[in-house]
This record gives sequence, C-alpha cells and structure tokens, in this order.
Amino acid sequence: VKFVYDFTEGNKDLKDLLGGKGANLAEMTNLGLPVPPGFTITTEACKVYLDSGEEPAALRDEVSAHLDALEQRMGKKLGQADDPLLVSVRSGAKFSMPGMMDTVLNIGLSDKSVQGLAKQAGDERFAWDSYRRLIQMFGKTVLGVDGDLFEDALEAAKEAKKVAVDTELEAADLKKLVTKFKKIVKTQAGRDFPQDPREQMDLAIHAVFDSWNTDRAKLYRRQERIPGDLGTAVNICSMVFGNLGPDSGTGVAFTRDPASGHQGVYGDYLQNAQGEDVVAGIRNTVPLAELETIDKKSYDQLMQIMETLENHYKDLCDIEFTIERGQLWMLQTRVGKRTAGAAFRIATQLVDQGLIDEAEALQRVTGAQLAQLMFPRFDEDTKVAQVGRGIAASPGAAVGKAVFDSYTAVKWSRSGEKVILVRRETNPDDLDGMIAAEGILTSRGGKTSHAAVVARGMGKTCVCGAEELEVDTKRRRMTVPGGHVVEEGDVISIDGSSGKVYLGEVPVVPSPVVEYFEGRMHAGANDADELVEAVHRIMAFADRKRRLRVRANADNAEDAMRARRFGAQGIGLCRTEHMFLGDRRELVERLILADTEAEREESLKALLPLQKQDFVELFSAMDGLPVTIRLLDPPLHEFLPDITELSVRVALAESRQEPHENELRLLQAVHRLHEQNPMLGLRGVRLGLVIPGLFTMQVRAIAEAAAERKAAKGDPRAEIMIPLVGTVQELEIVREEADQVVAEVQAATGTDLKLAIGTMIELPRAALTAGQIAEAAEFFSFGTNDLTQTVWGFSRDDVEASFFTAYLEKGIFGVSPFETIDKDGVGSLVKLAAEAGRATRPDLKLGVCGEHGGDPESVHFFHEVGLDYVSCSPFRIPVARLEAGRAAS
Ligand code: PEP
Ligand code: MG
Repeated sequence: VKFVYDFTEGNKDLKDLLGGKGANLAEMTNLGLPVPPGFTITTEACKVYLDSGEEPAALRDEVSAHLDALEQRMGKKLGQADDPLLVSVRSGAKFSMPGMMDTVLNIGLSDKSVQGLAKQAGDERFAWDSYRRLIQMFGKTVLGVDGDLFEDALEAAKEAKKVAVDTELEAADLKKLVTKFKKIVKTQAGRDFPQDPREQMDLAIHAVFDSWNTDRAKLYRRQERIPGDLGTAVNICSMVFGNLGPDSGTGVAFTRDPASGHQGVYGDYLQNAQGEDVVAGIRNTVPLAELETIDKKSYDQLMQIMETLENHYKDLCDIEFTIERGQLWMLQTRVGKRTAGAAFRIATQLVDQGLIDEAEALQRVTGAQLAQLMFPRFDEDTKVAQVGRGIAASPGAAVGKAVFDSYTAVKWSRSGEKVILVRRETNPDDLDGMIAAEGILTSRGGKTSHAAVVARGMGKTCVCGAEELEVDTKRRRMTVPGGHVVEEGDVISIDGSSGKVYLGEVPVVPSPVVEYFEGRMHAGANDADELVEAVHRIMAFADRKRRLRVRANADNAEDAMRARRFGAQGIGLCRTEHMFLGDRRELVERLILADTEAEREESLKALLPLQKQDFVELFSAMDGLPVTIRLLDPPLHEFLPDITELSVRVALAESRQEPHENELRLLQAVHRLHEQNPMLGLRGVRLGLVIPGLFTMQVRAIAEAAAERKAAKGDPRAEIMIPLVGTVQELEIVREEADQVVAEVQAATGTDLKLAIGTMIELPRAALTAGQIAEAAEFFSFGTNDLTQTVWGFSRDDVEASFFTAYLEKGIFGVSPFETIDKDGVGSLVKLAAEAGRATRPDLKLGVCGEHGGDPESVHFFHEVGLDYVSCSPFRIPVARLEAGRAAS
C-alpha cells in the first residue's frame, strides 16, 4: 500500500483516504490554483498507528521520498540553516471537525534556521515571531504543555512593553520570548525543544495521529455521529506567511453567505497574521470586502478563484487563504457548512443557475434541517429590552440563564435548567458546554470564529462578536451598554437569525415554514419570504420523486386536519386508547369491573356511540384517504387507578370507618389485573380474545361511522388493524368476528363498506411467520416501537433513562434503536416479513407506524425494503416527505 500522496496525485473524491482537507488541496492543485506544494499521509497510516501504537514500517521512507521531492521543488531543505524550508503539519479527517484536532505550523525553525529565515525575509521580527509560534504550538500540542503558560508569558511581554497587541512586539522582545518559551518547554515537558527539523516533523505527525483520540474529538464525533474508526490524514504543506508585514495577511471566505445563502463577498480578513489567529477569534478581523482596498490584485484573483471553485464543486465553498507579500495562496477549501435556511435557498439557487438538477437539489438538504426550520422564533414586536447585537452566526431562538463557563453550563443543564453559554470567545474545550447550552453568545470573533462554526455544525443558536457586551468570565458576569450587569443565572434571550441579544425572556412565535405548511402563508405570494419559497419548491421536488406515501399517526380530527395540511396521505395509526381517556375512563372502568354479562353489555353500549362519533369526525377530516384504526392495545390496568394510591385510600376509609365498597371492588380488580410485565401481558389482540364484546364494539363503531359518512356522500376509507398479533390463529379468530359485525352493519344500512382488515407486525414471531399471517391480513403495519422492544429485550419505557447513556458512551450504538431503526436486527425482521408477506399475498399493503416512520435515516431504510408508506406524527410529516423524496433520488 501507498501511505503518502503528493498534492498532485489526489483528487476530491479520495476523502476516505486523504481526508477532506487533503483531497481538496489535491483537487485545487489539479485545477491549477495557487496551492503551496505538499503531500498527504493517508488515514490508513493513521489507523495502523492508532491500532498498533507504531507507524507502518514503510511510512518513514515514503515520507522521506516525498520530502526530498518537495525540497527539490522548493530549492531548499527543511530547516536549512541559511534558507529554511518550513512546513505546516495539519490534521484533516474525512469529515471536518473544526478545531478538534491538532495542527503545527512553522516546522523547520531552530536556533540556527531562524537566523536564515530572518535574512531571507529581510525581516527579523517576522522570523522570531514565527519561531515563538512554533515553540508555542509544538509545546502545547506535541509535548502536552499547558497552553496558558505560553499565553501568560505573551501577555506579560505585552504588558512589560505596554502594548495592546502582539504585532507591536519587536524582534528583541520576541527573542526574549523565545528563550522564555524554551524554558517553559524544558521544565514542563522535561526535554529541550527539538532542534532537528525532521524530528520536529515526525513528532508533529504522531501528535496529529494521536489527536484523533482526544476527549474533545471523541465527544465531537459522538455528537455529530461521525464513526470513531476513520482516523485522520496528515497534510504536510510548505509554509507561506501571512505575518510578513502589512502586505501579508490571512483570511477565510465563503462563496456565498452561509447564513442566508445570498451570493456576495463574505468572509473575514486579518492583516499581518497567521491562519490560526482568525479562527481563534483572537484579534478582530475586517470584513473581506475591505481587502479590495488593501490589496486589489489579490482581491480580484480571490474573487475569480471563488467563482471557479463554486462552478467546479457546484456548491457553496469555504476557503482559507493567505497573502504573502502580495501573492495569494489557497490553503484549504471545502464544501461549506451552512445554516438550514441557507441550505434550502442555495439548493434552489443552484437549480436556477443550471448547476444542479432537482434530484441533486434534494441531496443538498436534509430532513433534520427542515425540522430545524420548523422551530418557533422570537416575536419581533417584543417589548423585552434589547441590550446588544452581534453577528447572526447560527439561527434559532434561544432563551436561558446566562452561564459563563462550560462546567456550569453542563452542571445546570443536567439539573434541567436551560442555559445560554456566554464567553468572550469559545475554544475546543468549550465543546461540552456548547452541547449542553440552548445557545451560545460571544463578544468576540466573526462568522468564522470557533463558536460560529461549531454552533452551525450542531444546529445550535449562536450570536457571536457582540462587541458592546463586556464579558467577564472570571467574575461570571457581563456588562451591557448603559452599565447594567447580567449576573450568572439571569435569563437572557438570543436570536441567532438577527444577532439580537435581549435581557429577559422573549416570547416565541411559529416559524414561517410552519405557517406555510399550515396554509397561513403562501409561496408565490408577494409577501412570502425567500425561505418559504425555497422550501415550497424543494417539497415539490420531493413529492415528485418519492415512491413512499406518507401518513399520519393521529387520533382526533384536529390532528388529522393538521396532518392533511402538512401533506399526509391518510392516517396510518389511530390509537383508539386515546379515545378512552378523560370523562370516558369511567365507562372503561365499568367495563372492566363488570360482574355480569348485562353490566358488560351496558358499558359497551354506552361506549359505542362515543366511539362512532370519534370515527365519523376522523373519516370526514380524512375524507377520500385511508384511515387505519387500531383496536384497543394497552393493558387494561392503564385505565384503572394506581394501585398504591388506591390501597392508601381504602386503608384510610377503613380506619375512619367510612363506606368504601366501591374502592374495595376497584382495588380487587386492580390486583386481579396487576402484571409483573404488563407490556408482555394482557394487551393487544389478547384483550380482544378475553374481553368479550370489546373488539366487536369497536368494529361496529367503525362500520357504522363509515356507513353514516357514506350516507352523507362522504368517502370513508377505513382499515381495521389488530395489534400485537403473534400467530395467525389470533388474527383469524378476531377477523371472523369482525367480518360478521361488518356484514351485519352492511345489511342493516344497505351499504357496501369494503373494510380492509390487517395487522401490526410488532413481535418477532409475527415477523418470522409473516407468510402465514398474510393469509388473514390485507395489510401489515410494522410497529417498530414494540418490535424494537421485543427484538432487543429492551423495555421501551425504561432504558433511555437507565443504561442507554452508558451504551452510547461505549459506542455499542451511535443512536438509540428506538429513534433510528436498527437495520441489522429489527430491520432484517422487517425486510424478511415484508418479503414473506408479499410472497403469500402479492398485493399486501405494507407500512410502518412506529416512531421510526418520521426518522430520516429510517425512512431511507423503509424505502429500500419496499414498504408502501410510513406513518408518523403530524409535525414530522414534511420531514418524512422530504426524506422519502431524497431516498428515491
Ligand atoms: C409500535 O409498537 O411501534 C406502535 C406503533 O404501537 P404503540 O407505540 O402504540 O405500541
Ligand atoms: Mg405497539
């Protein structure tokens, strides 16, 4: 195997091997863009190193060969005393993990070569500044020295000199600082800073490999669901310098605004600086547009390169560049992260520009982004005081108590508080605080600062660079203009779409995207915003492409109507137990307690008209569309009072010698029905088999309601669904009774009802015997909640709170199987049952109505195994439609 690739050898499709950065550096090199020469060590080499603790045997020689070639090309040797070649050693995994892994710049400087660099550059200050940066970065990332020690020494040097920024330190100051830094290394790391350039490089390469497994990198991967075994590539790139004076600098640019998607000039530029200064938000940058006045030639060239890249990648790109004495260099590009709204807008813009087609546009957005756009926003007419405004870095409306460090953010959020993490600027160590917080507010840094990039990646609300806020993290407070002090625990609100910061809680209003789905805002209308327009078009693309139909889980007319507005093509699950709550609970209680046939008949008779009315309403809300009604499923004790509470009541009444016959009867019933494992007990079809008249009452209500709708010229399309079937015999018995009731109602009303009868598949045995079950079922609906519960043996009501955190931390699964379908286990059973069912009955209709029906990844799976529809809660219907469209394109 080959472990090292020159930039001229790779291309953008080799991300698995070269990482994102390496693949794109190669791509740009081959596009003829100005990329400093270099080479990439593959992720494969990293994996060998991480698995065995040693680099692959061949790596050293391969690196030497590529370094030789690089030296020849550049006409100088790494660390050469009179004219050193310097390189950067940068991490670069397949998926971008901003700031999570290590990078070392200026490798090749030593006590000797720093002199050579000074002479060659004609700039002593620059050479010593580069050297102190090397020792600082190398000390921190390679040798594990506490970075604050260097920062403190730098601060002290600035104070001693009475200057505000590091650029005002002169060569002599920096020389002294280098001595200081070397001392810090010696005492902290117990070794001298290495003077041999190759040793520097090799140690830096290992440090980059190792940084794959730092705690913060692991946390980030878990958060972003990036697999833990990919490893990182390492890019060795010849250095160009942005810190060579005012005609040099470094910056970050986007080909479009990553927040709005608008085309234009977006980015930040920092004169006389090296790359890390921008991302770290250490000095405040100027808007990229100002580069035009600073260095018109480089600016024009950059604009042209940006256009080339956008047309080449056919997408928004972000770019890191450096200008060295008027010469522009590209250090990185990638398809850029963007906000959810921008993703939709950019996708439609690119279609309009003819760069991509509809199918590709669907790949550029996700259901998760759509879900994000459906969250409520702040009421713009709020009376709550606005106290500041920063950069709208990542949209959303977040309200919470101000906290000033990550530790508190995590602690408070664990105890159920909503918090906003307020920092001067964030760094990778703030990651767990950022995850815990509702939103992030910083007083420094631009759109490309760490806080902004990470928050956007996580879809978390962020306002950054709110400069008029004075954040004092040591005293845990912030002072707002006018002098008011916000203390830790005070509630603030931040609007990541406008950048506004408020003191107090701002009320929220529905998002325009929801207003659109609700039909209260129309695409194409004059006042519709661009976002609604873009969502409207993308949804149309999805609806044209998708094969899966999307139904709703709904059990009342109101939900059904909303679902319909959101695009539901029917109801896939009406849980009738929801119709037995409230006032009606007592009727069910009477049914359960009935001692005689007559008593039972009486309570069933009382329930019938109520059930029928429910169904009439549901059928009219879903007129013309299928409505799957599931007969009663939960264990009966759920309709009875709590056993402990009732025992106390009975005991009290007894001791007070009050009458308590009814309570006593009830208590006996509760005892009788008590089960150790109710979810594996008397529920589902089993209820129908042991409680005479229960299911037939429900079937009668359905049939009569359908007949009534028909008489009113409606178009009811009822489907009757039997839950928790494990064997075809259960279904056959219930089915026979149901068929008879339907026949009676047909005869009595003179209508032809055509009610389909089917079953849920939610037990392993049902899935395994699906071929037999299909003999008696006209449709299957996979109840993947119970199926997951029974396949794994996980109690769906308990596990999330008990041991799932440990499972997730240990990487046993990356996401709860109750959230995303477990393809290998539960999914195989779904596939098997679907195939067996269709073998018996080719026109068997197949759907899913567990929570997975609205989960993006699961929707793709259900598409692949050939189901006819997914059913999910009304609010998730747009997401399911979109993902079904994406799955089919
Ligand atoms: C299921 O088990 O997946 C299902 C839809 O039924 P319920 O969640 O009501 O048990
Ligand atoms: Mg179920």
